[in-house]
Amino acid sequence: MLDEKLEALFDEVVKRNLGEAEFHQAVHEVLETLGPVLAKHPELAEQKIIQRVCEPERQVIFRVPWQDDSGEVQINRAFRVEFNSALGPYKGGLRFHPSVYLGIVKFLGFEQVFKNALTGMPIGGGKGGADFDPKGRSEAEIMRFCQSLMTELYRHLGEYTDVPAGDIGVGTREIGGLFGQYKRITNRYESGVITGKGTDWGGALVRKEATGYGVAFFVEEMLRSRSRCLDGTTCTVSGSGNVAIYAIEKVQALGGRVVACSDSSGYVVDPNGIDVDLLRQVKEVERRRIDVYAERRGPLVSFSADGSVWDVPCDVAMPCATQNELHSRDAAALVRNGCTAVAEGANMPTTPRGVRVFREAGVSFGPGKAANAGGVATSALEMQQNASRDSWTFEHSEQRLYEIMAGIHRLCHETAEEYGAPGDYVVGANVAGFLRVARAMLALGLV
Ligand code: GLU
Repeated sequence: MLDEKLEALFDEVVKRNLGEAEFHQAVHEVLETLGPVLAKHPELAEQKIIQRVCEPERQVIFRVPWQDDSGEVQINRAFRVEFNSALGPYKGGLRFHPSVYLGIVKFLGFEQVFKNALTGMPIGGGKGGADFDPKGRSEAEIMRFCQSLMTELYRHLGEYTDVPAGDIGVGTREIGGLFGQYKRITNRYESGVITGKGTDWGGALVRKEATGYGVAFFVEEMLRSRSRCLDGTTCTVSGSGNVAIYAIEKVQALGGRVVACSDSSGYVVDPNGIDVDLLRQVKEVERRRIDVYAERRGPLVSFSADGSVWDVPCDVAMPCATQNELHSRDAAALVRNGCTAVAEGANMPTTPRGVRVFREAGVSFGPGKAANAGGVATSALEMQQNASRDSWTFEHSEQRLYEIMAGIHRLCHETAEEYGAPGDYVVGANVAGFLRVARAMLALGLV
């Protein structure tokens, strides 16, 4: 529920951004928690900080023409939404998926602003992507698409301006194609212009693992604050992409057992705990569907094309697939089966009604902008290493990631308490992230 002033403000956002349902959802979720902040800091309302924060600084939409392997011309639409640069250059990934449109990119960019603020690193927020479907495309087609996209995007980027990275459908291979084209056009080996690079050409150790590892570290901190830990728990994860794979790996290293994961074709249940090496081989190397994992792993493992991974009983659930994948009925099933902690590896995977079910049941709920911030935080570490022409060890980088995640957890926990909502990480993350951005915007004048 929003109070009257915030309701009017929200209506205005809807009117100005018609048809962008996911963006409305992301804005609503933040506004719901800001009432007490405005009461405490009237200058923020006077200076219309919320209205300004909801309006991107710049939005770029462009055509990406390319030729497929049969010689046919293909046209995609690409986006870069440069949302807020009060804390640093725009920072956020690129998503290649057929569902991408302006509303998705704006929701992701909006979330990114607060997520990046929570990391405490000097990065603003932005996001981009294209409605390109990489599924079934050859290596050559993907390379041509990346080169065509960067031929337009390069003019908006720069290590002090806007620094993309990956997201769904964009991994090291795509970052390579994008960076290579940027380098050719500009004649600059500007490593800090993009993150998620391969470790042979300017990438940082732990960046690949960082989002998933970070989720596991965040869950461990959430459990610790209730005098528990991951060791001995049963966990479930949705997805089987980069975030899911490394969340599973770290949860299991910390003593949890991940008994289920999924992709868009269905989910597998593996009572002995997911074999991460096999999962990586099937999903990352061979790029096959998840039933192949079940087939190779043996008779104890089942694959289901129907139903939901959230029907599998667990203590801890980590949605790591995509937005709005965990509905209120899924949340109810998780609660019924004894789940007591949820941490979002994906961006906004739980629907608003799903979140309400968890909060009412007293489930510890770590929202994506806090729980999955390890990826972008490690991108900022990659930028640091690029700027100083240095590269850190795996151990040092992982230690930094752990400290950042523990710091975000502490900040959310303390902020929630200060604002009268102890244990509520949604309040903690939104308020703490918003305040950091708002303070910087006030200091910088009418930006
Ligand atoms: N796409 C990731 C996210 O949602 C990473 C962004 C980045 O590293 O810039 O935070």
